[in-house]
Amino acid sequence: MASNTHVALSHGFMLRLKGIQAMKYLGAHVSAAGGPDQAVKRAVDIGADAFALFTKNQRQWKAKPLTDEAIESFRNACKAYGFEPKQILPHDSYLINLGHPEAEGLKKSRDAFLDEMQRCEQLGLTQLNFHPGSHLNKISVSECLSRIADSINEALAQTRGVTAVIENTAGQGTNLGWHFDHLIEIIEQVDDKPRVGVCIDTCHAFAAGYDMRTAETCKATFDDFEATVGFEYLCGMHINDAKSEFASRVDRHHSIGQGNIGQDGFTALMQESRIDDVPMILETIDPSLWADEIAWLRAQQASQG
Ligand SMILES: [Zn+2]
Ligand SMILES: [Zn+2]
Repeated sequence: MASNTHVALSHGFMLRLKGIQAMKYLGAHVSAAGGPDQAVKRAVDIGADAFALFTKNQRQWKAKPLTDEAIESFRNACKAYGFEPKQILPHDSYLINLGHPEAEGLKKSRDAFLDEMQRCEQLGLTQLNFHPGSHLNKISVSECLSRIADSINEALAQTRGVTAVIENTAGQGTNLGWHFDHLIEIIEQVDDKPRVGVCIDTCHAFAAGYDMRTAETCKATFDDFEATVGFEYLCGMHINDAKSEFASRVDRHHSIGQGNIGQDGFTALMQESRIDDVPMILETIDPSLWADEIAWLRAQQASQG
């Protein structure tokens, strides 16, 4: 059993200490149409051992509560197909802005985020991935980051067992979280450090100016991440190639190997041991390619020396 004395060490590090081979879990953000249990089946169909899902409609504020039956079916499906909570990375609604500059928008966002955290609790999930927030040119960057941290603190105080996983962004518009400094500035203001983490989206990082087109640049980007944030906070990865140009601050995903990051970057990524043991989720644009993308990415890991 994990105990609180281990919180400063990442799960991957603990495995290495015990001499257990760490691994990368690969999957995609699959549809939950028909109920969350259907997402599990869709993940299995593409050969995934990780997946992401929305636990409610991501484009609406309100959702009906999960029924006992839906919760039970999801838990049973996860058990049947061998998915543990650490292999699953639910994503919250795109409408939520935890750094909203105005009281009304902030309250609406915080209420919706709490609902999403509670849905994760009900489903037995242990992490919730979200985009940090936007200042909308009405407050400063540091004020907005503090607001985001306060929002996380409020949600964590009202829930148990679910980690708030901040995703780096491409930095489009007034979205914060594109710079690794933003991520750690939020984390530093979160009270319950074991229940805050980050998810690195490769397309977003590339668009924000973190290169990963070669083994050297990929390593340099993760060195930067290690120095700025630290791998103990890494809870997941989003694996996307980029239609957007390097450092363009534009968020446009592409299929693996078809965008501006390219195959060499993803080969390097799969051979980066510091990102072992977290769910790696495709949000690439052509779901019909997901099974092939997962197989190709796995093969890159297997070629590790
Ligand atoms: Zn993403
Ligand atoms: Zn994106």
